[in-house]
Amino acid sequence: MLLKVRNALFILSIVLIVNSAFSQNVANPIDTSYVYDLPYEIGLKVYVLQGYNGSYSHKGQYALDFRLRKGNSVLAAREGVVSNFEDNNSKGGPFKKYTNNGNYVIIMHDDGTYAAYWHLSHKKVFVKKGDAVLKGQLIGLSGNTGYSSSAHLHFDVYYMKHNVKLTIPTKFQTSKGVQLLRVYHKYCKPIK
Ligand SMILES: [Zn+2]
Repeated sequence: MLLKVRNALFILSIVLIVNSAFSQNVANPIDTSYVYDLPYEIGLKVYVLQGYNGSYSHKGQYALDFRLRKGNSVLAAREGVVSNFEDNNSKGGPFKKYTNNGNYVIIMHDDGTYAAYWHLSHKKVFVKKGDAVLKGQLIGLSGNTGYSSSAHLHFDVYYMKHNVKLTIPTKFQTSKGVQLLRVYHKYCKPIK
């Protein structure tokens, strides 16, 4: 009887070790509890022009459009590593033909999600591929490049599944606490 218990414990311990080794090889689960910083300077009170599933250009997407002026600082909402960027585009306007003319920064987070920051000004991206970026770090200046009706920052967080980009909702630290952001509302950072 004692031998059986010992054998059972031994097998159980092997199973646990193998499982823990395996789980280190698979991607981290997505951290849906992460609280993002608003991607602009303290003191700005910024209007959300278009929110999740917005009919203008966010159908089926968890994406946010912040009404920033051209030249406003864009700050990383979460720390990570720059996986891609573009700052060579100068065209933009309210037409779909400009979709591929946007300047952007994509930052990969430690849980395998990515944040996208779009419509940045021509030659005003201050990070490059492979750079480690801190939360709150200046990554570029807002603009109106790409498919964009007026200067703003498009922000979304996504992960890739079978080569499909799946956006997810994200919570932000605001002056009124931790919130999901809503269209036609204004938000500012808490004063530290
Ligand atoms: Zn947008």
